[in-house]
Amino acid sequence: MKFYSTTDRSVRVTLREAVLGGMPPDKGLYMPEFIPRLPQSFLNSLDSSDYQTICLEIAQALLGDDIPSAALQNIIHDAINFGTPLVWIEDRVNTLELFHGPTLAFKDVGARFMSRLMAFLIKDSGQKLTILVATSGDTGSAVANGFYDIPGIDVIVLYPAAKISQIQEKQIATLGKNITALKIDGNFDDCQRLVKTALADSDLLRSLRLTSANSINICRLIPQIFYYFNALRQIGDYLSREIVICVPSGNFGNLTAGLMAKKMGLPVQRFIAATNINHVVPVYLTSGTFAPRPSVQTISNAMDVGDPSNFARILDLYNSSWKAIQKDLAGAYYTDDETRQAIARLAHKTGYVLDPHGAVAYLGLTDYLAQNPRFDTGIFLETAHPAKFKDIVEPVIGKPVNIPLRLKKFLDREIKSISMSHRYPDFKEFLLLKSN
Ligand SMILES: *Cc1c(COP(=O)(O)O)cnc(C)c1O
Repeated sequence: MKFYSTTDRSVRVTLREAVLGGMPPDKGLYMPEFIPRLPQSFLNSLDSSDYQTICLEIAQALLGDDIPSAALQNIIHDAINFGTPLVWIEDRVNTLELFHGPTLAFKDVGARFMSRLMAFLIKDSGQKLTILVATSGDTGSAVANGFYDIPGIDVIVLYPAAKISQIQEKQIATLGKNITALKIDGNFDDCQRLVKTALADSDLLRSLRLTSANSINICRLIPQIFYYFNALRQIGDYLSREIVICVPSGNFGNLTAGLMAKKMGLPVQRFIAATNINHVVPVYLTSGTFAPRPSVQTISNAMDVGDPSNFARILDLYNSSWKAIQKDLAGAYYTDDETRQAIARLAHKTGYVLDPHGAVAYLGLTDYLAQNPRFDTGIFLETAHPAKFKDIVEPVIGKPVNIPLRLKKFLDREIKSISMSHRYPDFKEFLLLKSN
C-alpha cells in the first residue's frame, strides 16, 4: 500500500515514510492510495469471528503487502490486548466502551498499535527513534504508556506545568525507562511550539532521528477501524438492522476511521458527528461552509478543537462533495449545561455513568433516534472512563465515581518529571545531551 498526501494526490510514499514521517512536507495528511473493500463473506459473518481475527483481516487488507502476516499478527496480539464491549443502555441505545485500555481512553488503541508498528519499521535500521509529543492530557498519557518499554524508541512528553489534572500528570510522568516527562513552565501552545521547532531543526536532525506521535499519523487511524467492526460483531442480526453510530469528535480522527470502515464495507447506514460548542463540522454539515476558528474551553476538553485536522481526510474520502458527505454524516453539538444534564439524567434513570465526551455522543444519538424512527439500532462511542473526569462528573451525579484499579495504581506512583523553561535553547540543549 502506498500513501498519498491530501494536498497533492500525486505524491506517493511507502508505509515506512508515512508512519515515520507523520506528515507530508506539503502539510497535507497521508491517506492510503485506495481503501480496499472487505470480502462479503467476512462482512456477513462478523459474529462468528473473534476480535483479534477481525483486526487481522482488516490490517491485512491495508498493510498486508508491507508487513508479513506473522509480524502483523504479533503487532495486533500485543497492541489490541483489551476489549471494546458493546453495552446496552436503553431502548435502541448501545454504547461501545473504548476505555478498557491502560490509560482509560480510546487513544490507547491508536498509541499501542503505532508503537508496535514503528518498532517493526525501524527494527533493522540500528538507529534509535526519538518521539516528541506535546500534550494537555489524553494524548500524552496514551502515547507514554503505549511506547513504554518498546525497544529502540525513546519518548519525550512535554506537558504544561499549570494546566493538567493530577490524574493525567500521574499517567504521563511516573513511568521512567524510555519515557521522559518534561514539565514545561508555560502553556500547551508553548509545548507544541517547542516540538514543532525541534522537528524542523536541521542541526538536531543530524544527530537525532526525531518524529512526532500526534493524531494525524495515519497509523493511529488504522487500528481505530477495528473496533467499529467489533461493535457490529456484538449485535445479533446486524445485516437486517438500520444502524447509526454517533462519534464524539474533536480532531475527527475517530470519525474518519469510522467512515473508512464504512468504505471497507461496514454495514452501517449513517454516522453522527457530535461535538461540544466547538462546532465547525456540524455547522459545515448544515451550511456547506467550513469556517475554522479559535477553540473555546469546555468540560469535554479533549474535543476543544477549532480547526480539526482530520477534516481534510473526510473531504478527501468524499472528493470534497458536501452532498456525498451529508448522505453519510449528520452533525449535532451541545453546550456544557446540556452535557451535564445528560450525565445526571442517565445516571439517575439507569445507573450508567457517562464521561463528558461520551455524554455529548449520547445526546447526539438520542436526539437523532427521536427524529429518525426508521433506525432501530443506535451506538454511541464512549471514549473515556468517567473516573478520568471525576472532578466534573461527581458533582453532577452527586456521588463518587468508581475508580478502576489500573487508574488507582497510577495514583500511588511517584512523579519523575524534569522541569524546564519554555525557551527553545534549553529544550535543544536537553535533546543534544540525550543524543550523546
Ligand atoms: C481525543 C478524544 C476525543 C476526540 O477524538 P478525535 O479523534 O480527536 O475526534 C474524544 N474523547 C476523548 C476522551 C478523547 O481523548
